Amino acid sequence: MRQPADPTIWCPPARMQVLPLQDATQNLHSNLILHWHLAPALATSQDMSEFDFLSGIDAVPPTPILIAPQPVLREVTRDVRPEDIAFIREQLPGMFSAMYKAPGIGLAAPQVGLGMRFALVDVAEEDAPREPMLLINPEIISDSDQLAAREEGCLSLPNQYAEVVRPESIRVRYRNLAGETIEHDASGLLATCIQHEMDHLDGILFVDHLSTLKRNMIMRRLAKEQKLGRR
Ligand SMILES: [Zn+2]
Repeated sequence: MRQPADPTIWCPPARMQVLPLQDATQNLHSNLILHWHLAPALATSQDMSEFDFLSGIDAVPPTPILIAPQPVLREVTRDVRPEDIAFIREQLPGMFSAMYKAPGIGLAAPQVGLGMRFALVDVAEEDAPREPMLLINPEIISDSDQLAAREEGCLSLPNQYAEVVRPESIRVRYRNLAGETIEHDASGLLATCIQHEMDHLDGILFVDHLSTLKRNMIMRRLAKEQKLGRR
């Protein structure tokens, strides 16, 4: 997600989806998944040692970000499994580099062509210390009745912005690289950003929250700008 401009007010609650594993190896991995799901460890915060590579992130080549209407942006991702972690670890430096260079405040796996359920977020101000989050298999376990409208943008829809209404605060549960469960209360910009990134994991773009008319207008404008070679 790109840094939006102004927050304002509220509307309908965010959707939640529980998605089945979608490939033929489902049975093979089901025991591992079950084990993960039963693991009671509840970490209180993100383990920052997971992000040691960030000290040299400026020198890391950014992973190319896919631009809509790339079909992979419309696919529903599959859950991350314990055996995916080594691969994800390898992807992180390039993905964080891409997000920070854009600059953006969130990047979901499908935006770099990966059909897995994880996303990066960092809503820290540009001159403040970084606050990286990696959300693996995130799920929203509660959200507020109070809604907020914020202007959103997306690294996969460059230069396009629109106001989207979502719950003002959420409680999200996810895994870290160590497989620990983390629950995090988020509000304001962070809540918006996490919901935006989680939408990507279900093949949903922020324009899907707008009227058909508005969405078509934005998609046409994006196509035109891309054709002209603008960013
Ligand atoms: Zn986005």
